[in-house]
Amino acid sequence: MNEDINEDIYETAGFGDGTRAVRAGLPEAVKNEPPLPGPVFAAHFHLPGDVEGPYTYGRDTNPTWTLLEQAIGELEAPGQDVETVVFASGMAAVSAVLLSQARTGDTVVLPDDGYQALPLLREQLEAYGIRVRTAPTGDDAQLSVLEGARVLWIETPSNPGLDVCDVRRLVDAAHAGETLVAVDNTLATPLGQRPLELGADFSVASGTKGLTGHGDVLLGYVVCRDPALTARVRQWRKIVGAIPGPMESWLAHRSLATIQLRAQRQWANALAVAEALADRSEVTGLRYPGLASDPSHKTAARQMRGFGSVVSFTLPDRAHAERFMAALHLVEDATSFGGVRSTAERRGRWGGDAVAEGFIRFSAGAEDTEDLVADVLRALDRAVRTADGG
Ligand SMILES: *Cc1c(COP(=O)(O)O)cnc(C)c1O
Repeated sequence: MNEDINEDIYETAGFGDGTRAVRAGLPEAVKNEPPLPGPVFAAHFHLPGDVEGPYTYGRDTNPTWTLLEQAIGELEAPGQDVETVVFASGMAAVSAVLLSQARTGDTVVLPDDGYQALPLLREQLEAYGIRVRTAPTGDDAQLSVLEGARVLWIETPSNPGLDVCDVRRLVDAAHAGETLVAVDNTLATPLGQRPLELGADFSVASGTKGLTGHGDVLLGYVVCRDPALTARVRQWRKIVGAIPGPMESWLAHRSLATIQLRAQRQWANALAVAEALADRSEVTGLRYPGLASDPSHKTAARQMRGFGSVVSFTLPDRAHAERFMAALHLVEDATSFGGVRSTAERRGRWGGDAVAEGFIRFSAGAEDTEDLVADVLRALDRAVRTADGG
């Protein structure tokens, strides 16, 4: 690792999130060089003589990754000596942790209400002779299936149900045995939650969502304190070649500079939308961990620094939800979340998630709060009126 960059961790650790975000991962200033060096497009690097030095072949290492990895590590665990490994997508990062740490005969515990690709991963784990147990995120129910597991996979807040579990409590139980704990930090982003500070062994996320926030990059990452565990994750990346391109890595790093600005506005918008939805009689099952009335709020407030940009709720039926979606002007009908433009979708259209037909996952963007809330309320009114034939 570059020693000049490493010192920067300790320099930025004492600052606030905004200051840390704009400086994260920047190399030492060099006269006539750009503050954030451009993407390094290289399949191979000059390598005369013995194989030595940090950059050899483009599937192993790339200087643009190095800076991005440094930046993400500074946000996930300020002031701590951690290692970060970036991947081509969130699922590449998730798979890298589970498939590099679990062996045939091991047991892995997954949430049964997590990201929709986890069941596919479960099939793959089982095909390798790894036993998989599942339990819901809420009420720390994964505690009951932890016995003897090699890896506990936590997703909090869970996507799309927004349940929250007590990370420290699960970590304590896991570490009382020999169970490693990985937390999917996608929804919270490193500004909203720091899993390593809560005791987790791995913080893993899709950088496709709120981390980069513009809906133009797929990315994943793993942050870990233990060099031996990280080495296996890095080795996995090298074996399967699930590497991000230099351009994507650079775009992600550029986007990170505004994460604090984006998060502040998006979290405030999510809360405002949730509060507006709470007053509507046609809305049921409203969830947002930032709402004081939410069943997750107490645990979330203890372990999170911000509650994220996603709100979930249910409209009476599929047709009602479709009318609502069609009536929105400022909210794009699209999957994914965490971007600067608000998005929403009727989640049931995918199949796979155990959600009602009228279930909506809503991701608040960085629009002005009044504009966004007005658009949502107008679309709700319209969805009710058109049902009445009005
Ligand atoms: C989107 C998502 C992933 C997968 O990320 P990709 O970048 O789409 O591969 C994993 N976990 C959660 C919670 C997600 O929302």
